[in-house]
Amino acid sequence: MDASYNQEIKSNKQYNPQMHSAEHILNQTMVRMFNCGRSFSNHIEKKKSKCDYHYDRNLTEEEIQLLNKKVNEVIQQDLIVEEEFYSKDVAMEKFNLSKLPEDAGEKVRIIKIGEYDACPCSGLHVSHTTEIGVFNIISTDFNEGVLRIRFKLIND
Ligand SMILES: [Zn+2]
Repeated sequence: MDASYNQEIKSNKQYNPQMHSAEHILNQTMVRMFNCGRSFSNHIEKKKSKCDYHYDRNLTEEEIQLLNKKVNEVIQQDLIVEEEFYSKDVAMEKFNLSKLPEDAGEKVRIIKIGEYDACPCSGLHVSHTTEIGVFNIISTDFNEGVLRIRFKLIND
């Protein structure tokens, strides 16, 4: 794990492991439901976050509700979030490494959320998904091939 990178994350007070972990689950759910890629751009903050996807239209109200429900179903399973390290060659075969930074070392850190999701990431995460709280989509919009989803978390 890159210590300086984690230092940078921790020093950013807006950075929120709950939000960031929700982003992983949202991405995998988008891939499964809409066959789009993971978000190519995002802005993750404690109060509210947004993720952008390449897609061809906005979501319907029914789809938003279903997406919201699916993400919460995954969270409520209380899946374990764990890191695993793979050599770059093995990781390339097993996972989608399109977002891997070019300067990544020979060991690739994969974050697994139960059997639901696995992707390379160097960020900070919750250890169990129920720590995320309740996922809530605020709004979606569509503009020039970009579907934007805004969401917040409700914690006790
Ligand atoms: Zn992550």
